Amino acid sequence: MLKLEIEEAPEWQDLANCLGVDPDLFFPERGASTREAKAVCHGCIVRDDCLEYALQNGEKFGIWGGMSERERRRIRRQRALERAAAAQVADESTA
Ligand code: SF4
Repeated sequence: MLKLEIEEAPEWQDLANCLGVDPDLFFPERGASTREAKAVCHGCIVRDDCLEYALQNGEKFGIWGGMSERERRRIRRQRALERAAAAQVADESTA
């Protein structure tokens, strides 16, 4: 018997502003403008979900949640610093 595994898209993707928009817009060549993609993201109601998905899944390329790779890297770095600081506080409180 044939077993089909169908991966359901997260609900938020069904509400994305970029549905039907050329995906190439969101994966510009290095150095190319991200302005058009970010304009699509600007009014997107699932922007936070999209950004969080990209951060959680380590998406390294493209515009997600209205942010470039570099902008997402900054957020990941900031979160890592916050986690390290929280871990240090927790260590100090148990010592
Ligand atoms: S934030 Fe941008 S890339 Fe993400 S779903 Fe919305 S329009 Fe698409």
